[in-house]
Amino acid sequence: MTIVNPAPVYLKPPLDPPAPVPGCRKCEAWDRQRSAALAAGNASGASDCNIEIRRHPHAEAGAP
Ligand SMILES: [Zn+2]
Repeated sequence: MTIVNPAPVYLKPPLDPPAPVPGCRKCEAWDRQRSAALAAGNASGASDCNIEIRRHPHAEAGAP
């Protein structure tokens, strides 16, 4: 009889929350939203903000 040991599953640690880019108003808005979500215990909402901060094109400082 052969006992097959399944390969262990290693979960990756969650990514570090991205830092908002200074001068980027979108980052600032999502950073505030993320803080509010965390304060409300809304980890999913905070994660959404992290994704948005990572993937949007950052505006230059002073741009509208
Ligand atoms: Zn940004």
